[in-house]
Amino acid sequence: MQVMMPSTDLKGKKAVVTGAGKGIGRGIALAYAEMGADVALVSRTESDLKKVAAEIEAMDRQALVVPADVSKVAEIRRMTAEVMDAFGRIDILVNNAGRNILSPALEVTEEDWDKVLELNLKGLFFCCQAVGKYMVRQRKGKIINITSQMGVVALPNRVTYCASKGGVVQLTKVLALEWAQYNVNVNAIGPTFIKTPLTEPILANEEFRQEVLWRIPMGRVGEVRDVVGAAVFLASDASDFITGHTLLVDGGWVAH
Ligand code: NAD
Repeated sequence: MQVMMPSTDLKGKKAVVTGAGKGIGRGIALAYAEMGADVALVSRTESDLKKVAAEIEAMDRQALVVPADVSKVAEIRRMTAEVMDAFGRIDILVNNAGRNILSPALEVTEEDWDKVLELNLKGLFFCCQAVGKYMVRQRKGKIINITSQMGVVALPNRVTYCASKGGVVQLTKVLALEWAQYNVNVNAIGPTFIKTPLTEPILANEEFRQEVLWRIPMGRVGEVRDVVGAAVFLASDASDFITGHTLLVDGGWVAH
């Protein structure tokens, strides 16, 4: 009998995950290793990456620790070259590193604007470009950009974040169009509030937490595990005909 269900196995694949030291990036890196991939872990803090690498090596997979600031184009290029030297190819790229600086629009400084946009949008694009170059040559690759539900809906005090994440939704579509002919899939994941070190302080505010829960029909905030399922799907053969898409992992927030 022909098996209809395509595999979500990642055995033998080589993946790069940025912001892999904690939170969502760490979860995705561990899940990829669990599904069979070797993973290059990229972030600024080497000590965090080494801990994740040890967890991956305990699963008998290869982990490559590459400290780099992915808001800087020169570092992105160095990081990509290091991974290519070690792995020889890159099958999966997850652009996950991101930040937020909360501020009313009237008080946003030029410095805050640059910090958020340089990492969330500019750095993400140049990671796509640096790795995309090799994927185009390979005639195969999966790029997964971690945007946010804030790429499609707004909340006050997040003008820089929403602008950057909306930009990611759009650039994902353009890259998907340009690279479809080379069999390179470019998709995004848009999570709602997920419990991570980034959101811990804000979700500790009970009034804000209740406001968030009111907006999520499923009645809870997300766990890293919720995002991991989407990231494995979009990295695997099961999503070969999906490109330019933003998969919301939002418990129904945007449908509200
Ligand atoms: P986090 O702060 O827990 O982890 C972010 C990781 O990125 C850290 O390992 C950090 O060291 C790394 N990083 C930060 N700046 C970097 C830089 N310049 N270069 C390299 N690495 C850098 O964040 P998280 O909550 O896991 O968020 C991960 C991604 O998911 C971000 O893009 C974020 O915007 C997005 N997101 C998060 C949530 C949420 O609720 N947590 C919701 C929607 C989208």
